[in-house]
Amino acid sequence: MTYLAPPTMAIVLIGEDGSKASEAVLESVIKRTFVHCVDTNTQTHRIEIRPLRDQNLGDPKLASAVCANSWKDRSRDARSDVISFIRYLATNLGQDFGIPRFVFMHFDGDRQWSQRASCENLKKFLDDVLPKVAHLLKEKGLNDDAVAIRLARLKLVVPFYSMESWLYTSRAECIGYCRSTCPGVADCPTFFDAAQSPNGFDEVDAIKGVVCFGSRFNLELANIFPVADAYDHNCSYADFANQLIGCTQLAGALKTTWA
Ligand SMILES: [Zn+2]
Repeated sequence: MTYLAPPTMAIVLIGEDGSKASEAVLESVIKRTFVHCVDTNTQTHRIEIRPLRDQNLGDPKLASAVCANSWKDRSRDARSDVISFIRYLATNLGQDFGIPRFVFMHFDGDRQWSQRASCENLKKFLDDVLPKVAHLLKEKGLNDDAVAIRLARLKLVVPFYSMESWLYTSRAECIGYCRSTCPGVADCPTFFDAAQSPNGFDEVDAIKGVVCFGSRFNLELANIFPVADAYDHNCSYADFANQLIGCTQLAGALKTTWA
């Protein structure tokens, strides 16, 4: 007899480009972070994964708001998309679903880590989107403290320059992918050697275009993502992981997966 343990918590995944591939990468990085950085006892099979693309069948506007971060666009045409997106965030954060639910939203910093103060994606999300989500939660009758608790269930995944900056931390595998991909003699191994600074790859501008295989092996690299090495670079990945390590609500939810 097989016994399938029911989920005890859920995470909603919002990938930057709304694609299945980017959500799978996000899922893998988040699960590895839970186990290797937040709570080693986490039983990931008891976490229900809720990718946005599986849930937007009745509302195609949602995917269009997420695709290429078009929620940033203040123009009239994009507005109904953005309203759908804000409602989606407020619903997932504000409703009681019986088990704890967290929302993980990924968008790239699109900057070098040292230039993060000028990150447009982050600024626009914090200035334009988040207050509207908070407003909707208040309209549901939550007081300021309750709203703050709900908003703390939203986790931003913001790699600098982009997700590849984290995934390329697996240097040996990357060099292997390069050897099987580059048509001729490649500069990629030189890149991986030269750029292996204490900051990792957070300072490499437009990193995806620097290496021959670009984002082609993102999922493979996400599945072996070396959490400790990336954390030791003490840049955007550590910033993300610390967001989770310091969250008492998340600690409580992960604990429910133990049994
Ligand atoms: Zn190469």
